[in-house]
Amino acid sequence: MIFTNPRGAPELACDHCGCRWVDRLKGKAYCYECGEEISDEAIAEFQRAIADFSAGNRSASAAGQEENPE
Ligand SMILES: [Zn+2]
Repeated sequence: MIFTNPRGAPELACDHCGCRWVDRLKGKAYCYECGEEISDEAIAEFQRAIADFSAGNRSASAAGQEENPE
């Protein structure tokens, strides 16, 4: 499950209970709250969301600089 925080950044959350307290160990992620494993699919989705967010931030700051030539 992917949440978006108020700054627009994605946050990985547990598919089972929805908590965002995830423990990543040895390439696997587990929920602290209910102990369920976070699926590879959810992690892949989260990594794509992070990449999209980073790309969006870079283009947003570049556009901001062009708007303020002085
Ligand atoms: Zn959980």
